[in-house]
Amino acid sequence: MTRLVAGNWKMNGSLAANRDLLDGLMAVPGVEMAVCVPYPYLAQLLERPAGVALGAQDVSEFEAGAYTGEVSAGMLAEFGCRYVIVGHSERRALFGEDDAVVGRKARAALAHGLVPIVCVGETLAERDEGRVMAVIGRQLAAVLDALGVAAMAQVVVAYEPVWAIGTGRSASVEQVGEVHAAIRSWLAGQGVAAAAVRLLYGGSMKADNAAALFAVPDVDGGLVGGASLVAADFMVISRAAGGGV
Ligand code: PEP
Repeated sequence: MTRLVAGNWKMNGSLAANRDLLDGLMAVPGVEMAVCVPYPYLAQLLERPAGVALGAQDVSEFEAGAYTGEVSAGMLAEFGCRYVIVGHSERRALFGEDDAVVGRKARAALAHGLVPIVCVGETLAERDEGRVMAVIGRQLAAVLDALGVAAMAQVVVAYEPVWAIGTGRSASVEQVGEVHAAIRSWLAGQGVAAAAVRLLYGGSMKADNAAALFAVPDVDGGLVGGASLVAADFMVISRAAGGGV
């Protein structure tokens, strides 16, 4: 399947810095690229390089109404978003999002034609306790409960070990291969059309390790934080996703 390389800008950027960054991006044949930007910049991104899709970093589980501070999936769709990240570990850890909320957010996104990028992954303590797939299975089960088997095949799943995010310490190719295979097999075991589900790896993916990570079976793309803020690095990663240099 076509690989997806999605940049998660997190809470970074300014009108001027975004312009510079976007000037350095261009489509890579055979690869889908996306940038997930802070809400206020969605309007700026209405103009962006061809071949670069737009995404947000969160979405409300609610449709509309008295939910101060929330942004609905319908609003994101209106600004041309194709993707929205849900359940990023920073939202789970810092903003109290639990598995059930993540499931409802994924459902709200799909209802408006957005593709949720559902983030799952274990902490270092959970890995040390041998609970990697117990945790990921619990996180995925909540999304499956909210969506049902058929719609579950439409989401993108991003495996993001919490200990690898923003730390400069990527998971090893062996660890990534093992978990991605386990996620696909978990999905298949639930009756989901698992071969159709894109599995991204995220966690300190950089220009110098991307090619090795994309060579791992079952890695269908990357969710890239820090390195997505440097156009040249994001381009190297995107080209690596296409098998080029
Ligand atoms: C992320 O924010 O999803 C991420 C993977 O960050 P980084 O690439 O900086 O580790």
